[in-house]
Amino acid sequence: MNKGDHVLNGILLAVGLGYVLHPDGGIQTFETIAATLVPVVLGTLFPDVDTDFGKHRKTLHNLPVLALLYAFPFYFGNLQWVWVGIASHYVLDAVGSRRGIALFYPLWDEEFGLPVGVTTSSKWATLATVVVTVLELAAIAAVLYLAPQVLPMDAVGNVL
Ligand SMILES: [Zn+2]
Repeated sequence: MNKGDHVLNGILLAVGLGYVLHPDGGIQTFETIAATLVPVVLGTLFPDVDTDFGKHRKTLHNLPVLALLYAFPFYFGNLQWVWVGIASHYVLDAVGSRRGIALFYPLWDEEFGLPVGVTTSSKWATLATVVVTVLELAAIAAVLYLAPQVLPMDAVGNVL
């Protein structure tokens, strides 16, 4: 997807996270949206830095990079929520667009993706972005309510 669609994905994801984590629409809902909006959007933009440095859809589109950013808050106490944006970027590229991503790079160059996406320049790219984002939020809600122990939590029980 292009940068605009990745930003849209991050904004919708942050708003959705606010309501998934605090469905009542109260102050905590909006605090969550405010707390997650910038880091999630930064996460959605980060992988495509490899268009200028490294190999696009390989260097920063792989599981080791996601694992590093997932672990970052535990060791350094910052960059919470960035991994959510990165994971969402991977899903959007692999599911919403035609070309896949090299999940196992640098060990394996093969690009993986589902054969259901559109080209990044398609007039349907933004609709595909919205559909994928809704599916992501449904998956997050399902994990949150069915298996919350798999989500990274901080000391006071907030999802990282
Ligand atoms: Zn990408």
